[in-house]
Amino acid sequence: MDTFVWDENFTTGLVNVDDQHQTLIASFNALSDALQHSNATGDEQALGQAYEHMLCYTLYHFAEEEQLMRECGLDARHVQTHSALHRQFVEQVATMWSARSALQQPAQSFVGFLAYWLGMHILGIDQAMARQMQGLAQGLTAEQAYAREAQLHDQGTQALIGMVGRLYHVLTVQNAELARSNALLEQRVVERTCELAHANARLEAYASTDALLKIANRGCFDVRIVDACASAQRRGQPLGLLIIDVDHFKRYNDSYGHPAGDGCLQAVARAVAQALPRSTDLLARYGGEEFVVILYDTDAAGTAVVAARVVAQVAALALPHRGSDVAPHVTVSVGTSAHQQVDKHAAVQLLAQADAALYQAKATGRNRWVAG
Ligand code: GH3
Ligand code: MG
Ligand code: MG
Repeated sequence: MDTFVWDENFTTGLVNVDDQHQTLIASFNALSDALQHSNATGDEQALGQAYEHMLCYTLYHFAEEEQLMRECGLDARHVQTHSALHRQFVEQVATMWSARSALQQPAQSFVGFLAYWLGMHILGIDQAMARQMQGLAQGLTAEQAYAREAQLHDQGTQALIGMVGRLYHVLTVQNAELARSNALLEQRVVERTCELAHANARLEAYASTDALLKIANRGCFDVRIVDACASAQRRGQPLGLLIIDVDHFKRYNDSYGHPAGDGCLQAVARAVAQALPRSTDLLARYGGEEFVVILYDTDAAGTAVVAARVVAQVAALALPHRGSDVAPHVTVSVGTSAHQQVDKHAAVQLLAQADAALYQAKATGRNRWVAG
C-alpha cells in the first residue's frame, strides 16, 4: 500500500514540477515499502538501493526546481528560503537514515518523516512558488508577486507549516543525539565486556596458580596432563614426566621453622624452572613439597637429561639443611617416566611409573633421579 497518496491539492499547475513530484512520491513509496519489507526479511541491500534512488531523485528534483525559480526571476527572498528548506531536508534525511538503527520503529519514523515533509513542502512553499510564477506571468514584478503572496495567503496555515517544519528539525536533531548516545552506550558495553574478559583471564590465572610458589597448581596440572597426552597421541610425539620431592623437608621445617620452609620451597621452584629447557614445559606444584613437570615432545633420554639437571640445579642452590643426612644443603629426589607412544591411559601410567621411580630414588639414597 502506498504511504503517500497523490491528491489534487498537491498540483501546482507547473507541469514539470508536478511530474517530478509524482516521481518523487513514487520513489518515497518504494523506499517505504523496502523499509517495511526489510523489517521482516532484513534485506539491507534492497533497502540501501531504495534509499539511494530516493535521495538521487530528490537532489535532481531540488536542483531542477531551484533552476526554474532562478530562470523565472522569482524574488530572491523566496528562492533563498525555498533552497534552504531543500538543503535542510537533505541533511535531515541523511541524519535520520544513519540514525535509523537507534530508532525504536525505524520504518514508521522514517516513512512518517518523508511523507509529512513532502506533503508540507508541496502544500506550502511549492504552492507559494507556483502562485508567484503565475503572478509573474500576469505581469507582476518579482517583488509584487512576493508581496501579494505574503498578503493574500493564509498566514495561519503558513505559520503552522513553518512550525511543523521546525518541529521536525528538532526531532531530527534529537534522534541524532539519541543515535550518538546509543553508539556511546554500545562502546561502553564493548569496553566493559573487554574488562570483564580481562578480569576473567586474571581469575582463571589465579585459579590455576599456586599462591605460595606462583607456579601452576594441582588442578591446572590435572587438566594439562590430559591435554598433553591427547596432543602427543594425535601428533605421534613422545611425552616425558618428572615427579620431584624435596628430601627430608619435614626436618627442614623442624630446623628452620615453617616460614623458612616456605622460602626454601620458593627457591627450589625457581631452580627447577631454570632447569627446564622449553618455555612450554609445565612445572606445577603437585602437593606439599612435591613438584611435577610435563615435558612435551620429550623421550626417555631427554627426560633423563632434564631430571639430572633438576637435581644438580637444586643442589647448586646450596641452601643449608642441617637436618639432612644426605648433604649439608637442600636436595631433591626425582622419579621420571616417558612414553614413546602415548595412548589414552598414558596420564595414569606416567604418574604411577614416575611415582614408583621416585620411591626408588628415595630408597637408594635421595639427591638423585631414577627412571621409571
Ligand atoms: P622425604 O625425603 O622422604 O620426602 O621426607 P620429607 O620430610 O620431605 O617428607 P614428608 O612427606 O614426611 O614431609 C613433607 C613435609 O613438607 C611435611 C609438611 O609439613 C611440609 N610441607 C608441605 N607443604 C609445605 C609448605 O607449603 N610449606 C612448608 N613450610 N612446609 C610444607
Ligand atoms: Mg613428600
Ligand atoms: Mg620430601
